[in-house]
Amino acid sequence: MDSTKIVIFKVAVPVQLNQVFDYIVPTELNSTAADIGKRVLIDFHNQAKIGIVTAVSDNSDWNLKKLKPILKILDPQALFNELDLKFLHWLSEYYHYPVGEVICGALPAALKKNVLTLGEILPPEAAIMHVDSLKQAVLKLNPEQQQAFNICNSESKFQVFLLNGVTGSGKTEVYMQLMQTVLARQLQVMVLVPEINLTPQLEARFKARFATEIAIYHSKLSSKVRVQAWLKIQTGTAKILLGTRSAVFTPCKNLGLIILDEEHDNSFVQASKLRFSARDAAIMRAKLFQIPIILGSATPSLASLANVERQRYQLLTLTKRAGQAQVPQIILTDIRKQRLQAGLSASLLQAMRATLAKQEQVLLFLNRRGFAPVLICHDCAWVAECIHCDARLVVHETQKYLQCHHCGQQFAWIYTCLGCHKSNVSTLGVGTQQLESKLKQLFPQQNVLRLDADNIKSARALKQAIAKINQAEVDIILGTQLLAKGHHFAGVTLVGLLDVDGGLFSADFNAEENLAQLITQVAGRAGRENKLGKVILQTRQPQHPVLLDLIRPNGYQIYAQQALLA
Ligand code: ADP
Ligand code: ZN
Ligand code: ZN
Repeated sequence: MDSTKIVIFKVAVPVQLNQVFDYIVPTELNSTAADIGKRVLIDFHNQAKIGIVTAVSDNSDWNLKKLKPILKILDPQALFNELDLKFLHWLSEYYHYPVGEVICGALPAALKKNVLTLGEILPPEAAIMHVDSLKQAVLKLNPEQQQAFNICNSESKFQVFLLNGVTGSGKTEVYMQLMQTVLARQLQVMVLVPEINLTPQLEARFKARFATEIAIYHSKLSSKVRVQAWLKIQTGTAKILLGTRSAVFTPCKNLGLIILDEEHDNSFVQASKLRFSARDAAIMRAKLFQIPIILGSATPSLASLANVERQRYQLLTLTKRAGQAQVPQIILTDIRKQRLQAGLSASLLQAMRATLAKQEQVLLFLNRRGFAPVLICHDCAWVAECIHCDARLVVHETQKYLQCHHCGQQFAWIYTCLGCHKSNVSTLGVGTQQLESKLKQLFPQQNVLRLDADNIKSARALKQAIAKINQAEVDIILGTQLLAKGHHFAGVTLVGLLDVDGGLFSADFNAEENLAQLITQVAGRAGRENKLGKVILQTRQPQHPVLLDLIRPNGYQIYAQQALLA
């Protein structure tokens, strides 16, 4: 390179300023355009920082004499290509978040800090994995699945497909067969799921099906495992990326398809720092990279259904369960004036006994963890609240403490009312802990398993719990929305929803949509194999129009049509 020629790097730096920064490149670094997308070490206000080269230029708007030099080019190869950078620039603009934070935020933590080379991170054997054969025979698709497959498979450019299939309709089988055709073209597939607790089952199914390497990427993994997964996708040694919302930023060597499962799920939205929707980001990514994207759900968001109406998305529908299973019917049980035992009505208890007598499993849904949602004074109606958030404190009886489920802060037990100073305080309402102890008392012969954030704290714990359920070591499963999503429990034939009325009256704009999705998803856990399932929904609002829609066959679709008209 001509020694008189000036080379400037435009560097993205993780700071709260919405600009890139100019650095002069010393001649001995022999820079080229291929340095775009590499990490560099820079001096930023007398602090060593790692930034990313977003452009190479021969001029600067700044006084050249004042520009600092690049200290070191850290990577032998670029980590981001130009399209990756374009995508990250778009995110920064669309979500009004500083460009350096977005671009550097797309790095896994280990690459943000440590000055590691790729060779030090990637185990050498990772580069050798290159098997694209199938391990497992594919299922013969039913006509609806086949049609969805054919339509998606005929498109290799940008197109958004909405795969609307009832729970258990074989969406995952359609995904896997499409993935296979993309992998056969030597391209990668990105599969995004809302929460890590969905990954163990999907991971197991992918592993059973594909011989190729699968990179798993979510925030609960160790930093080392994360950076390895990231690099395997970035370098192309892994062909399948399975991850949660933050995986959408991962640069891919040659991406051919994006699948976003459970597209209605709010976990795709990140509410802090960079506020973004992984669904919208994934669609933009597919558009920039000119590849198809499939959004899948049994209960598509109204937003996506509206995009189908506007002919922006192409709708594919699976109306029947795959194989033998039938979609269960939802029965409303009016619990007004009924005496409940820890939230359980007599008719639900009766149905439970009948199911358990047949050696089948029962799943109970109660979206309130803890012992009781409220601690109240019966003399003055004072209610225990968090001093930080004004949220009501949840009673955790088994440990005898109170906890704010907003900020997580725990408080010591309160014996005397802080309003009137008498000691007539007691709990109100039922949480999962109370339900669990009642179930153990009512069904002493049965094994009861509770699944909520208090006793399932890791992906591993969840994996173990699911294994127990599937090996029929458990008769009654109770839990929060942890079990609403995606899980396939073959032995469950009765599902009871104890108390979802709260969602019917929430002031939250999306509450009704979310409730309709939740009810349909939980109900969909029943009767997934060849036995017919039954769903009992307890309510004090048996005439509510949303509930009346949902109990009809294909109820969610009926509800969504009504809601879109409104
Ligand atoms: P979804 O992802 O829509 O919930 P899955 O793909 O998990 O549905 O399928 C539900 C069940 O049906 C699984 O046990 C799956 O193996 C089975 N299945 C899917 N497609 C077929 C098919 N074409 N023939 C037979 N069984 C199928
Ligand atoms: Zn709080
Ligand atoms: Zn009081």
